[in-house]
Amino acid sequence: MNSDFKDYFRAKNIELPLVIAGPCSAESPSQLLATARGLQACGVKVFRAGVWKPRTRPGGFEGYGAEALRWLTMVKEATGMLTATEIGCAAHAELAMKAGVDILWIGARTTASPFAVQEIAETLRGCNRPVLVKNPAALDIELWIGAMERLHACGLHNIAAIHRGFKVPGMTGYRNAPLWDDVTRFRDALPEIPLICDPSHMGGSRAKILPLSIEACRRGYDGLIVECHCEPDAALTDSFQQIKPAELASVMQQVSCACAVR
Ligand code: PEP
Ligand code: MN
Repeated sequence: MNSDFKDYFRAKNIELPLVIAGPCSAESPSQLLATARGLQACGVKVFRAGVWKPRTRPGGFEGYGAEALRWLTMVKEATGMLTATEIGCAAHAELAMKAGVDILWIGARTTASPFAVQEIAETLRGCNRPVLVKNPAALDIELWIGAMERLHACGLHNIAAIHRGFKVPGMTGYRNAPLWDDVTRFRDALPEIPLICDPSHMGGSRAKILPLSIEACRRGYDGLIVECHCEPDAALTDSFQQIKPAELASVMQQVSCACAVR
């Protein structure tokens, strides 16, 4: 299985390894803009924000949905950054495409459903925007590979995977244990598919972002997706794992030093 993902970013003069950053959730136009401007100042070219939030249990903040897609357009117009959001079903895929979101990702809870992935793949058929697929929360590498195959079979060739760790029983010290060696099976099965690390959802804490990012870099990953917020303590979702844009700049610098002296 091949992927045009790296060529897509090279053609836009966006450096690889790729850095995608932005808040867990789109909370307001001003929160998005302040965060995006901070990230832009650090050289980040791709801005993430969840507009539909897949909460494990109902009752929490579930995102502003389609209304917040307009805020992503505003960020793009104000900063020139590419935008990225999560899609959880075919209807989300259609709305995000129509709103001009540049990059789409399928979240961990959705990857676990072949029905949902198939519907999304058919809705996006032939689309040449990048589509990223997070690993399912359970350690089921086949399900992850299957999701990539469903997209590819619908003519989606600008694809990549996100390793966000796995829910495993017991105390691991991580929100989602990386299980790096298990992911080797994915990499061996799909060697041409770029792999991006999500240290935010893996670690579940601000302090773990740096060591996990260094480990991913040492393992030759193709990029990072990091949750950043202009005011992390006030974030409506995943507050404990979000960092400020300036802190991301320091992470990026330390990662490149650690990998350069490998
Ligand atoms: C997210 O990226 O905000 C998210 C919900 O991630 P995951 O699907 O990995 O839980
Ligand atoms: Mn999150």
